[in-house]
Amino acid sequence: MKIQLPGQASAIRPGKLLCIGQNYARHAAEMKSRVPDKPMIFLKPSTALVGDGGRVVLPSMSRDVHHEVELVVLIGRTGKHIPESEALAYVGGYAIGLDMTARDLQAEAKAKGHPWSVAKGFDTFAPVGAFVPADAVADPQDVQVRMAVNGEIRQDGHTGDMIFPVARLIAYASRIFTLEAGDLLFTGTPEGVGPVQPGDVLEATGTGLPALRVTVHREA
Ligand code: MG
Repeated sequence: MKIQLPGQASAIRPGKLLCIGQNYARHAAEMKSRVPDKPMIFLKPSTALVGDGGRVVLPSMSRDVHHEVELVVLIGRTGKHIPESEALAYVGGYAIGLDMTARDLQAEAKAKGHPWSVAKGFDTFAPVGAFVPADAVADPQDVQVRMAVNGEIRQDGHTGDMIFPVARLIAYASRIFTLEAGDLLFTGTPEGVGPVQPGDVLEATGTGLPALRVTVHREA
């Protein structure tokens, strides 16, 4: 999958997918996790990406795959040790996305102290809608994010409730990784996560962002 910004001639090849865990207090509570004192980062491979109209494939290795609706930030230019005050200038665009999670495999990994790469990294576990340019979103902390399964709202959150706002996440992540154009940042999910089944239609929306619609299928 490539990323096409409106008004730009060439598509952007996606880079690394940085994801933030437990960035909303009520979601941390529903997962019986403590609110973190610094951003909790994990990575997904770019092979997990799928665009609007695509398919989410439930892997045979899991029996409990959950939806997590998240604001997704596209990094627009290279940066390292980016000050928080300048961080939003590194944003190239925004989209709504889903951090699909094999909750059973994640629980097993948590219990064993193992990484989340398997639980979070399957093909099609990172659906993202079309991106809008950064200046189309006046304030990334003022986006209502919603998620419906077969037309029924399951998650309805507001990015103003993030524990670590987008600018702080970019500043923090850039102390670890060089951020590059095409990198994506999944900013964490509000409460209301839950399982999906084959045949489900998942619809994610965010204020000012193109809607994302994917269908759920069982692995062949
Ligand atoms: Mg998530």
